[in-house]
Amino acid sequence: MSCRRTIEPAGRAADAPTDNRRMPHAVSLLRAARLASATKPFTARGGFKRERCEGCRLVPTHCMCALRPSVHTRAAVCLLMADIEPLKPTNTGWLIADAVADTFAFGWSRTQPDPALLALLDDPAWDPYVVFPGEYAAPERVVNTVEPHAAGHHGAIRRPLFILLDGTWSEARKMFSRSPYLNPMPVLSLAPAGASQYRLRRSRCGDHFCTSEVAARCLDLAGDEAAGTTLQAYLGVFTHHYLQAKNQLPVAWQGAAHRQLDEALARQRSGHLSSGPSAT
Ligand SMILES: [Zn+2]
Repeated sequence: MSCRRTIEPAGRAADAPTDNRRMPHAVSLLRAARLASATKPFTARGGFKRERCEGCRLVPTHCMCALRPSVHTRAAVCLLMADIEPLKPTNTGWLIADAVADTFAFGWSRTQPDPALLALLDDPAWDPYVVFPGEYAAPERVVNTVEPHAAGHHGAIRRPLFILLDGTWSEARKMFSRSPYLNPMPVLSLAPAGASQYRLRRSRCGDHFCTSEVAARCLDLAGDEAAGTTLQAYLGVFTHHYLQAKNQLPVAWQGAAHRQLDEALARQRSGHLSSGPSAT
C-alpha cells in the first residue's frame, strides 16, 4: 500500500494552498487502505472509545482540524509504517502528513516493497537518507549532517528526503535490518538531544523520540528550522487535545500549547515573507 496526497505534483509544497484541512493526506489514505484490507475491526488499546473525527482522530469536542498548519519545506518525508501503525490514534506520522505537503507514506514489507516506494527512492529529484541510530549501521553509511542542496545530474538540485521508520522500537529495528532496498542509502544518525516531549505512549528509554519529533529535527538539519519548530509545537497541541479528551477535560484554547503553535506559525510566516516564494 502506498499513499501520497496526489493533488500537487512533487516539489509544489510552497505553492500549495494554505488551507489543506479538507484533503486526505498520505497517512489518512494509508489508514483507509489498511482498514479496507482488515479482516476484523481495529480497536485501539488504552485510548478513549468514543466517536472520532476523521480529520484528526480526536473526539469532536476536542477536534483540532482548524489548527492544522501548512509548513513550507525544502525537504520531504517518507514514512515507512509498520502494519497497524497507521491505525493507531497516537501515531504522530499523521501530524507530519498534516503539516508537510511532501509527505509520502508506505506500508512496510520486507519481501514485497511497494513499486512506488522503489521509484521514489530511485527518483533523481530526491536525496534520500534513512534516519536511524548510527550504531546499528555500517560506519561508512553513517552521516550526521544533511546537504540541503545536493547536486544531481546536469546541475539539478536534489531535495533531502528523510525516510522515517514508523513503528515501535522493535518494529523499527526490524524494518531497518530487513529492508535490502534501503541499504544503498546513507544513514542519518541524529545527535543525542534532550528528553522526548511525547507523553502519549510509554517508552522503555526516555530518549526514544516519537516520529514527528524525529521529523522536526531532520527539518532543522535541512535548513527548514521554522517548519521544524512548527511541527514540534503542533505535536504539543495534539498531545494537549488528546490528553484532555482522554481525561474528559476541556481544551485550554488560550493555553501554552496553542500559544507556542501561534508563535511558531508567526515566525514561519515572517521568515517565508522575507525569503520569498523561492523558500521551497
Ligand atoms: Zn478533527
